Amino acid sequence: MSDFNLDNWWQPFTNVRAFRDNPRIFTRAEGSFLYKEDGQEVLDITAGLWCCNIGHGRREVADAVHKQLMELDYAPPFQFGTPPAFQFAERIAGHLPEGINRVFFTNSGSEAVDTALKIAHLYQFARGKGGKSRFISREQGYHGVNVGGTSVQGLPNNRHGFPLLQEVDFLPGMLDIARNAFSRGCPEHGTERMAQAFEQIVAMRGADSICALIIEPVSGAGGMVPPPVGYLQKARELCDQHDILLIFDEVITGFGRTGSAFAATEFGVTPDIMTSAKAINGGTVPMGGVFVKDEIQQAIFDSAPAGVPEFFHGNTYAGTPVAAAAGLASMDIYEREGLFTCAGGAKGEHWADTLHAMRDLPQVIDVRNYGLLGAVSFDSGDLPAKSLGPKIHQRCYDNGVLCRAVGDHMVMSPPLSISEGEIDLFAERFRKSVNEVL
Ligand code: PLP
Repeated sequence: MSDFNLDNWWQPFTNVRAFRDNPRIFTRAEGSFLYKEDGQEVLDITAGLWCCNIGHGRREVADAVHKQLMELDYAPPFQFGTPPAFQFAERIAGHLPEGINRVFFTNSGSEAVDTALKIAHLYQFARGKGGKSRFISREQGYHGVNVGGTSVQGLPNNRHGFPLLQEVDFLPGMLDIARNAFSRGCPEHGTERMAQAFEQIVAMRGADSICALIIEPVSGAGGMVPPPVGYLQKARELCDQHDILLIFDEVITGFGRTGSAFAATEFGVTPDIMTSAKAINGGTVPMGGVFVKDEIQQAIFDSAPAGVPEFFHGNTYAGTPVAAAAGLASMDIYEREGLFTCAGGAKGEHWADTLHAMRDLPQVIDVRNYGLLGAVSFDSGDLPAKSLGPKIHQRCYDNGVLCRAVGDHMVMSPPLSISEGEIDLFAERFRKSVNEVL
């Protein structure tokens, strides 16, 4: 059907050879739906890639982008500024935990992660502790694709064959189906195991060599796993005890996913640095951000010589006025429509009920949820492990629902603007798809 060549664009994280035989092309989107070339609707139960939290095709955002492009399309962010970037940073700061008010814009989550690692490192230098250079992260964690983020992520395929920073140790992953299957919200088991592993790493490396712990508050690309009860509080406590910075990678959990604007607020744990991207402006214009405690910025400023940038780092498109204008318009929608908190209310409850009802489907070994996040895990049975997920994913797509397969875990994150009726439609199409495959 397509009248264009599929050979030239090398798509990211795609089995390109298979795609060429079975192209899946979207040409339009509106509300909670994407539309295929032939016009068939696909219910977007992944909010694009966890980013279109306000739903697709919001005219308000499009108008703001258009207006900004005509008024001031671009100005350099190095040594200059534009009103939308300052205004958007201030609006974001209004939703961050107390004490975190500094916003460093990037263009993606990957850039945000590498920027956060550099800020953490520079901070340790600034306060005379440059020997604290190691990072701790977690197996199954995902922190983007730049060299720093690749080094601290715990998904083997994403590391294999790439250059890596060596100074990283890993906590065990949070997915523990044997002990936590079918937990609603935060599971019971895992905090103690994490604490033991953390203490072992500190004992082995020495706290004087460790810069920061970086974790996703809810593991996303690793299979959507909420933190066990008390896990994030314990992580904060251990970091404080050993003078180690705590970085929350909120690229997925930020902007309303968990029932609060940020997971830090939702779980009542304030990290030192947060990373964000994706839903920052509704998934409309590439943008990311690093949110930093005021005192960390101050320490870096205090140690920098006068007359030069305090942080020799940044991107051409960091805080571009167009991305910031999209952010301001998206923020209006988030706030006006109560989207930061709806995942923690009746809609979140309906989502949880709907997901947990999937338990009766064949070969289901776990259902997990938090806010408007969810996962249904399957046992591959006689098939080689990890082959069921892609089959269900394809059948869902054929039947008009888009979810993600992480191995045999089907992972979901609908737009926060989704209606309860659309959640029911998802359940109907998902059930049908699973029953057709199994
Ligand atoms: N960090 C987390 C937790 C993510 O989930 C992602 C993307 O999925 C990233 C970082 C990387 O973001 P991006 O794809 O915008 O570079």
